Amino acid sequence: MADITWISNEYEVGDFCMLIPGFAGQPIKAFDKNGEDITSTVFATNGFMKVDADYNPKPFEEWSIKDWPQTYQNPTYGNMYATGIAFAPPHSISKPMKSANGRAISPAPPRTGMPSGVIGKIVAENIAERIKSGKFERKHTANMGRMGAACIVSAGYNMTKGLGATITVSPVVPDWEKYPDWGRNIKSTVGEIGLAGHWIKLFLHYMFLHKAKGYPFWWLLPE
Ligand SMILES: Cc1cc2nc3c(=O)[nH]c(=O)nc-3n(C[C@H](O)[C@H](O)[C@H](O)COP(=O)(O)OP(=O)(O)OC[C@H]3O[C@@H](n4cnc5c(N)ncnc54)[C@H](O)[C@@H]3O)c2cc1C
Repeated sequence: MADITWISNEYEVGDFCMLIPGFAGQPIKAFDKNGEDITSTVFATNGFMKVDADYNPKPFEEWSIKDWPQTYQNPTYGNMYATGIAFAPPHSISKPMKSANGRAISPAPPRTGMPSGVIGKIVAENIAERIKSGKFERKHTANMGRMGAACIVSAGYNMTKGLGATITVSPVVPDWEKYPDWGRNIKSTVGEIGLAGHWIKLFLHYMFLHKAKGYPFWWLLPE
């Protein structure tokens, strides 16, 4: 109720806002083989798993895509990885702000289907090569500051009157060194609403099922 009051105080009718639950990992405890509690070594305080990110606190002006993980491997326990939503981000992705009431506003990184798929793939490739060769060369990397993402939200199912909202961002984590004005390539960071989005969503539905079932040429299909 407090949150709803805050939002109604802050915004005019017609402004856009979204109510979502706090984003946190599962409250899992971790113990080593001697029974010692290693929870704080494996997990960040928000419950997500620590990986090869730079978790040193730093001001927004010093944030860099280099803070973001490449291999998603836990630095202490090399046989543990966290892909997709499970890994702990080093910080939020936009400049932390405060509402007029002093409430912190710090957007979490969108680890949606596409980045999760790309990260899962490179982690699987590194693990497979490690098992086969006995060496860990970290050949495959996926930094969210060098990765684009597309997301389509269905907003009406009909072949002629359907609606979909298509959103692309490139890169997912803003790279202020490469794109000093906006942090992103503004030409490939777009949002469109229309019937085409519905058709693309339908196509993706069958494409991903084809891939998940390992049907012919599944490996050619992107994440
Ligand atoms: C309604 C909805 C719509 C979405 N639409 C889009 C979209 O249009 N585009 C887009 O890009 N993204 C979309 N997303 C986001 C996308 O689905 C997620 O970002 C993505 O699935 C995250 O992948 P993940 O592998 O990190 O986690 P998940 O896909 O959640 O995979 C985690 C898996 O772990 C399993 N699991 C959990 N606990 C245990 C346990 N104790 N033991 C064993 N297994 C366990 C779960 O069953 C699950 O299969 C949507 C999400 C939702 C909920």
